[in-house]
Amino acid sequence: MPIEEVDTLVVGAGQAGVAMSEHLSQAGVPHLVLERDRIAERWRTGRWDSLVANGPAWHDRFPGREFSGDPEAFVAKEDVADYFVAYADQINAPIRTGIDVTEVRRLEGRPGFRVDTSQGVIKARNVVAATGAFQCPVIPPILPEDASITQIHSFEYRNPEQLPDGAVIVVGAGSSGVQIADELMHAGRKVILSVGPHDRPPRSYRGRDFVWWLGVLGMWDAAAPAPGTEHVTIAVSGARGGETIDFRALANAGMALVGRTESYADGVLRFAGDLVENINNGDASHLAMLEAADVYIARNGLDFPEDPEARRKLPDPNCMTNPVRELNLADAGVNSIIWATGFSQDFSWLKVDAFDDDGKPKHQRGVSSEPGIYFLGLPWQSRRGSTFIWGVWHDAKYLADQISIQRMYAQYPGPKDT
Ligand SMILES: Cc1cc2nc3c(=O)[nH]c(=O)nc-3n(C[C@H](O)[C@H](O)[C@H](O)COP(=O)(O)OP(=O)(O)OC[C@H]3O[C@@H](n4cnc5c(N)ncnc54)[C@H](O)[C@@H]3O)c2cc1C
Repeated sequence: MPIEEVDTLVVGAGQAGVAMSEHLSQAGVPHLVLERDRIAERWRTGRWDSLVANGPAWHDRFPGREFSGDPEAFVAKEDVADYFVAYADQINAPIRTGIDVTEVRRLEGRPGFRVDTSQGVIKARNVVAATGAFQCPVIPPILPEDASITQIHSFEYRNPEQLPDGAVIVVGAGSSGVQIADELMHAGRKVILSVGPHDRPPRSYRGRDFVWWLGVLGMWDAAAPAPGTEHVTIAVSGARGGETIDFRALANAGMALVGRTESYADGVLRFAGDLVENINNGDASHLAMLEAADVYIARNGLDFPEDPEARRKLPDPNCMTNPVRELNLADAGVNSIIWATGFSQDFSWLKVDAFDDDGKPKHQRGVSSEPGIYFLGLPWQSRRGSTFIWGVWHDAKYLADQISIQRMYAQYPGPKDT
């Protein structure tokens, strides 16, 4: 049987793969999308049960389709997955599911790649790796795996009932950690939240959601973290209709806050002395956004309502004034730890010259150093929004354009008289 050939092969049919397919179709580029599971699988089985989108429905979507229902609502994760299935159907995306791409290698003496899959070989002129930024859960090697305590990553967390009785430590106070800690506390658990560096935008300010403010202030489009600052996670939540994350309020409601989790020995977990600094820096990011929003309102003469509540700061709770630096887990009744400590990516199947010595993709806005290989959905691929629903759509548009440009050169026959 002849080997199947396709111009552009897209690996992964999450939102990135679906967006890529839309733009390739619009550019007239023949393509195929291979997905090892189902369309938008991560939204169905890679997230906790109660998760809703971080941004309201009017924002966290592609331009070509709206969510049914209230545009201000925060859509449940299953509905987000259904949205992408419907979107793929709407654009007639050529997606084959249940096919794992196991290896991609450059062809010798001709352009393109040999793609090995769980269902045979395909040759492709271009390959777009749209396999996601949040692929492999990362747990820092602090506790031995055999420590007599349940340890899971936020990727494996589903609901409070899944955990053994007793207190829970949640490590990491980005959007995942803070939402999981809050859910556990509302389920009646004693929760200790280990808070690292974070930004803490207002859920809304002067009548507009923070996604709108990030948009008009050009912050979704920021090309890299602000000079002199590392990328820090954003603590934001759409739970219960969307609320600003306020660590002091969480502490007042009974959550114990500690600094970054540093080390473990003999049943005792130790925390850095950075809790107050981390919370104060989060407050500073919060205030900076309010200031920028006020300047925008004044400059544009907008009649937005005042919002003095947004600047209200609760007194520091006891866990900030007397920070706990070490905890005997047994004495504190802690039986489980949830590591909300982020993800890494797995490109072990991509055997091409597109990675640096640390295994990180070498690319410019997703166009890799290996001609014909493209990445989509990477953190900060072109902008802050690159891993988010609305941002990946724009990156896909750029990549489809770059692929079309290369096709134009490849198809040029040369001057007539040579
Ligand atoms: C907890 C959480 C909440 C989030 N909430 C929001 C939100 O509210 N709003 C927002 O805009 N963003 C949110 N994000 C960020 C982002 O939108 C999601 O992570 C989204 O799933 C990323 O889409 P993707 O297509 O890039 O990757 P993925 O959804 O991970 O899709 C990649 C696909 O590739 C497939 N795949 C991988 N390897 C192979 C292979 N070798 N062969 C074949 N198929 C393969 C996988 O099965 C998967 O389906 C959230 C992220 C997390 C972790």
